[in-house]
Amino acid sequence: MTTEHQEQEKSYDSGDSTLKFVTRQDDITLDDDPDTLRAEMSCGHAVTPQSLTAWCRSLLDQGQYDFRCPALKDGTVQKCEARWSYQEVRKLAVLTATEQQHFEETMAALAAAEYCEFKTCPGCQSYVEREDMSNLCVLCTVCTAEKQRCFQFCWQCLQSWTGPAPRSDRCDSDGCTSRDLQLLQSCPSTTLPQVENAGACPSIRACPTCGLLLEHDRSGCKNLLCQRCKVEFCFLCLKLTPICLKSSSYYLPCSNGVACRQTSIPAWNRN
Ligand SMILES: [Zn+2]
Ligand SMILES: [Zn+2]
Ligand SMILES: [Zn+2]
Ligand SMILES: [Zn+2]
Ligand SMILES: [Zn+2]
Repeated sequence: MTTEHQEQEKSYDSGDSTLKFVTRQDDITLDDDPDTLRAEMSCGHAVTPQSLTAWCRSLLDQGQYDFRCPALKDGTVQKCEARWSYQEVRKLAVLTATEQQHFEETMAALAAAEYCEFKTCPGCQSYVEREDMSNLCVLCTVCTAEKQRCFQFCWQCLQSWTGPAPRSDRCDSDGCTSRDLQLLQSCPSTTLPQVENAGACPSIRACPTCGLLLEHDRSGCKNLLCQRCKVEFCFLCLKLTPICLKSSSYYLPCSNGVACRQTSIPAWNRN
């Protein structure tokens, strides 16, 4: 069976009370076959699994992972442009397992390619990009050329580098500590009410893929889609969602229980 064929087969479960079904035309394709079940997106525009899948797939093909509504606002030539979350797209496009994998891998690759981190060099105030995300010791090429000796500074405390390198936690300057690490260590515990018997977990987690600090809003399932790297992970066991789901489900405790408080921040490996 080809992917196209599977897409033909996708349809909504008419008994799903979390969706709002409508009979008016599809706002993406303008198809108005009265026998097709369509659902409303959060912006109010009507789609089918096929039209939504095709539109979002075409966005990904153009290198775009910000899913925005292409429909025209009522009676105008202005586009709606409302932003849909990936979770919303996944649900209303009824993405198959193969499609989910394609979407998630493409989104993660696009986010990684786009990401770069800049800070101001304490020596010359020019913007420096960090190449090795696991090393706080960064060389400024401008200062090095000017001073005719190697000038390195600390990405965390923004003072000139002291002590051995490479290091990922701190330099030897007094007061060089990671605010993020302190937060991970000292944030209060919380529970996820929708996951029964899961127990307590820290209220802040560092994304296991890119290290961004994230908080769970305590609604919905235990998984979070990281807004920076676009990789979804389990807030309880800190494994990537597909791995956690192999031996658990969205609303059940994880097979390995809740992961301990993190003691280091993962560096984003973009390769
Ligand atoms: Zn819309
Ligand atoms: Zn500099
Ligand atoms: Zn430092
Ligand atoms: Zn991330
Ligand atoms: Zn898990």
